[in-house]
Amino acid sequence: MNARDSEKIAGTLERIGYQIVEKEDADFVLYNTCTVRENANLKVYGNLGHLNKSKRKNPHMMIALCGCMMQEDAVVERIQKNYKYVDIIFGTHNIYKLAELIQARLDSKSMIVDIWKEAKEIVEDLPSERKFKYKAGVNIMYGCNNFCTYCIVPYVRGRERSREIKDIVREIEGLVADGVVEIMLLGQNVNSYGRHGLEEKTTFAELLKEVEKIEGLKRIRFMTPHPKDFSDDVIEVMKNSTKICKHVHLPVQSGSSEILRKMNRHYTKEAYLDLVSRVKAAIPDVGLTTDIIVGFPGETEENFEDTLDVVRKVGYEASFNFIYSKRSGTPAATMENQVPEDVIHERFNRLLETVHETSTVENAKHQGTIQDVLVESVNTHEEGFVSGRLSNNLLVHFKGTEDMIGTIVNVRLDEAKGFYYIGEIV
Ligand code: SAH
Ligand code: SF4
Repeated sequence: MNARDSEKIAGTLERIGYQIVEKEDADFVLYNTCTVRENANLKVYGNLGHLNKSKRKNPHMMIALCGCMMQEDAVVERIQKNYKYVDIIFGTHNIYKLAELIQARLDSKSMIVDIWKEAKEIVEDLPSERKFKYKAGVNIMYGCNNFCTYCIVPYVRGRERSREIKDIVREIEGLVADGVVEIMLLGQNVNSYGRHGLEEKTTFAELLKEVEKIEGLKRIRFMTPHPKDFSDDVIEVMKNSTKICKHVHLPVQSGSSEILRKMNRHYTKEAYLDLVSRVKAAIPDVGLTTDIIVGFPGETEENFEDTLDVVRKVGYEASFNFIYSKRSGTPAATMENQVPEDVIHERFNRLLETVHETSTVENAKHQGTIQDVLVESVNTHEEGFVSGRLSNNLLVHFKGTEDMIGTIVNVRLDEAKGFYYIGEIV
């Protein structure tokens, strides 16, 4: 989501005459911040300290901050008080105002702070400076209504609202005309697409069917589906599709029904495993990945064992594992029995080991098969090699040349290496 916003911000800046450089000694430095975990916040304060020195050397330099962290009152207060050299602060709901905010700053000579509590409208057709030529993220909805008790996203991204199917399709058609072959449909809970903010309600399955029809589009991915809303009609559409990739990122967060209840996730361990079975039965060879939080308040050894059990039973291709981070303002922040740090670290390491063991076995299952691979980049470690992804999201490195990027080629998977393969074009 943030990466997609950054493309819109970069597009706006280019349109008004800026050129992108990847260094922080630029004339205009902007941080699009994340606040999902505390670490992300700490990094921003650290970087701001360094920028102060650069700004003394280059007094015309402008510093702007935006993104989720800026939607928190305490953060903005702290910046106004301790980092007075910041020029512009704006939030997640008004990025389309950036050009005007820069003008306001030039006119006023003092810090401009413009944070909106809620989105006023969905603004279509923003300029965009895309990071990749052959693939693109497409927002299908904004915000979140789920209020998982650990999560700050609903507070900083506002209520859920979907974009009209016709606007989404029009955007993708434009991307395809511009050379894009793979799109990632983005939302905090894509399975509740169509419920809020539209004149006529619709569903994620309906959207998928419309996107499938777009000529020239080769691959469709989506992120993130919430297990509680993953309906059989979506499984059915995936099963019958030739474009939807055989990969589901299905965040479990915890394997313990008791912890899941405290997290307000609205599913049990059994319901999750049942969903996984239905997905696997309908889409053989599907690759599953997940997000897991270790050390949610009150997590006992037994609860954690349930998480390991789910990891073993599902056989994830990969898992993004997070140490629980206390976000003030969320219900979990004031829950009793916060888990001690050493216990969390010990569990975290066990989780990594278990994921590694199971994913190695799972990923090796494709050895010797020939698969469609979208070539994504030149391999920086091995000369003469390129890297690409299978439909199920697995990475493969093989001999190839830069001009193949963005094309789909047939690759035989010769050597399983845990999280990736070494292969050969056939
Ligand atoms: N909407 C997506 C997740 C968005 S946040 C979903 O529900 O799946 C991405 C991931 O960050 C989450 O899946 C969760 O695992 C992690 N996360 C969110 N809040 C966190 C917190 N307070 N501490 C640790 N990890 C957190
Ligand atoms: Fe956060 Fe839960 Fe919403 Fe995902 S579904 S963004 S974890 S509140």
